[in-house]
Amino acid sequence: MDRTGELMLEGKTFYIHTFGCQMNVNDSEHLASLLLAEGARPARSPEDSDFILVNTCAVREKSVLKLFSYLGRLKEQKERRGSVLACLGCVAQLHREQLLKKFPYLDLVAGPHQYAAVPLLLRNLQVERRVLTAWEKDWVDLPIVPEARESRVSAYVTIMEGCNNFCTFCVVPFVRGREKYRPLPSILQEVRELAGRGYLEVQLLGQNVNSYRDPDSGAGLPELLAAVAEVPGIEWVRFLTSHPRDFSPALIEAMAASPKVCRQLHLPLQSGSDRILKAMNRQYTRAEYLEIVERLQALMPDISLSTDLIVGFPGETEDDFEQTMEMLEKIRFTNIFSFRYSPRPRTAASRLKDDVPEETKIERLIRLQTRQKEIQLELNRRLIGRTIRVLCLGASKKGQLFAGRNEGLQVVNFRSEQDVSNRMVEVRVTGCGPYSLHGQLDG
Ligand code: SF4
Repeated sequence: MDRTGELMLEGKTFYIHTFGCQMNVNDSEHLASLLLAEGARPARSPEDSDFILVNTCAVREKSVLKLFSYLGRLKEQKERRGSVLACLGCVAQLHREQLLKKFPYLDLVAGPHQYAAVPLLLRNLQVERRVLTAWEKDWVDLPIVPEARESRVSAYVTIMEGCNNFCTFCVVPFVRGREKYRPLPSILQEVRELAGRGYLEVQLLGQNVNSYRDPDSGAGLPELLAAVAEVPGIEWVRFLTSHPRDFSPALIEAMAASPKVCRQLHLPLQSGSDRILKAMNRQYTRAEYLEIVERLQALMPDISLSTDLIVGFPGETEDDFEQTMEMLEKIRFTNIFSFRYSPRPRTAASRLKDDVPEETKIERLIRLQTRQKEIQLELNRRLIGRTIRVLCLGASKKGQLFAGRNEGLQVVNFRSEQDVSNRMVEVRVTGCGPYSLHGQLDG
């Protein structure tokens, strides 16, 4: 502590544990940058840390239960070393003071709009323990220093935050607030800096990226994509998460117009039944979703599509579920993220009767995932014998085996005599499983 009663961060160690999506990973990179700027150093584990920051996800009940168990395990460690323990992000925003009741040894609880203030909050812990969950109305630019990035070749770039959609199952608008958009020049500046440091791929992030609008010019995602794809050095551009309701023909044309925009899209469907989509307040029909897919495939026949699906939403009948199964057959997604419905606090659906029995939810999820696994195997087998571009993200621990992703965002494990980490390479596909492709460096 210094003479003013503040904790000093300089020379101290910190560890950030991240739950949840790419947005949270990117937020943790921002947090790490802020602490590095204060002179703190990253630690390898919580055991070695003066400050333990847990960045949390409230989207599913399961991730909240995992967080609670993790916080429980940190108690002894915190007391042994006298570390400072902070719970940040979406669960902090959702549960606020209740978290301090459940985990009285927490030193700080701060929501996602408080990241910029975290160093100050940590410095002032001795003065007052705090729960901070106020909203920021305007966009706050938080720079990322290179050392805080997880990858040296692929970077997340946040372009907007929050969501105005209020899907009835989703807690995001309650924890991330209403939509805020990052100014386009600030996004482009970050992408140019990344390209200058040798980054080859950028993933533009936001909870609902299709509604992006530059606050000054009003330029939307199609214009932003075109501008980012023109930055010299950037090879691949991706964006997520999309909402089918806002997926305009102009966006499809912008994707198709630039070979640097990956032929890959994550487009959450959630359910194949119009009745359930309506109950979820998704604001599109199954036919409208299929129409978007047809337009995408017409202009980009090789596009890889992935999706999110929920089974067992309140009122989901066997017939509703079968309609979701039908969408798997029609669209043949490269990958799906599928979940059993669980009610989330404050959402409209949490006031509905959670009437699909747990055994039925499990049985439907197994059927869905089993069929999807077969589809993925069928799709992956078609790539055997082809040579594909792969962004190599690093070596596996077993010597000459490397791992990367192809344009379709599939995992590719391949052999190479030389170290090709952090490079774009050509790989000949020699085999596959349902979840990955295997191959050999070509040439
Ligand atoms: S679009 Fe719906 S599911 Fe996605 S973040 Fe917004 S409310 Fe949640």
